Amino acid sequence: MRAVVYGGVGQFDLKDVPKPRLEPGGLIAQVDCCGICGTDYKLYFTANPRFPPGSILGHEFVATVVELSPAQGTGSFSALGEGACPPIAVGDRVTMATTVPCGECYLCQHGLANLCPTAKCVGAAYPGAFAEFIPIAAHAIRMGNVLKVPEALSSRAAALTEPLSCVVNAQSVAEVGVGHSVVVVGAGPLGCMHAEVARARGARQVIVVQRSKARCDLAQHFDVDAVICSESEDVAERVKALTEGRGADRVIVAAPDRAAQEQSLQLAAKGGVVSLFASLPKGASDITLDSRLIHYNQIAVVGCSDSTAGQARVALGLLESGAVRADRLITHEVRLDRILDGIEIMKQKIGLKVLVQVS
Ligand SMILES: [Zn+2]
Ligand SMILES: [Zn+2]
Repeated sequence: MRAVVYGGVGQFDLKDVPKPRLEPGGLIAQVDCCGICGTDYKLYFTANPRFPPGSILGHEFVATVVELSPAQGTGSFSALGEGACPPIAVGDRVTMATTVPCGECYLCQHGLANLCPTAKCVGAAYPGAFAEFIPIAAHAIRMGNVLKVPEALSSRAAALTEPLSCVVNAQSVAEVGVGHSVVVVGAGPLGCMHAEVARARGARQVIVVQRSKARCDLAQHFDVDAVICSESEDVAERVKALTEGRGADRVIVAAPDRAAQEQSLQLAAKGGVVSLFASLPKGASDITLDSRLIHYNQIAVVGCSDSTAGQARVALGLLESGAVRADRLITHEVRLDRILDGIEIMKQKIGLKVLVQVS
């Protein structure tokens, strides 16, 4: 089969590799499409020991089941109580919550399977979906990480499930809710998803902050009350003006930017919550926060990482209902043999989500 094999920095090589073999309890699916994640993008420029050369990357996929181990006929309940897992059949389209937890450790047993220290990820421990076929392990099915795509939902839309599930996790940790004014800093694909999810959770006001002009324009296509162009406007002043001087109830920093993290406290209302959604690069993650603002304004600064299978189900539901509009989030599509065009589009920051069409 054809696959893009990761050869290290600057090497995404289209190769002919053996088709995966069906393992007991597992399945093989033919990949339809797969989004390029920020993680994949970063690996093109910076090595990461978690992804050795020879890996097949790509985890934001939709694929059609072509081979299924007989043991998978009956369906089950997720081992972590994340809902029923209906039986999967040959011909079903599936997507995944791509961080597969152990299911047994303290965190897995306490609703934090997204933080499982021995979780295995698609694209690292398991082969990814920048390939014609992907094997899915029995353990992933048992953990409830394999989701059936509803018939009415397109594969391209369902390919957003995994990144969207991380947004669902972040907003649940930050308790974004009814009546809130929400500022999202960074209008990349994840930032725009945050704007949509905040609205779906009942936010009264959604304000997006973005530096590059191209993405300021793209952000206008979403249901937002204001887009602040940080290159030409005073962000703190504008947020104050738009929130009757209070600041935002929730501030989500979806830009991997130190200055944006440091400024976030100034955008938050008293009693507000700041979510550090985007991570800073290793070795460059020390920031300065005014602890008096945290103390006297009673601001909670929260983190978030990854997502659970249950959150992936919520994400799939948001896409199915149209609350999150995939057609606006996916701005570019490339074929598997043109994946480097996708990397270039991401580098130029001219679009939002780039999708690789595999078959
Ligand atoms: Zn991803
Ligand atoms: Zn675990």
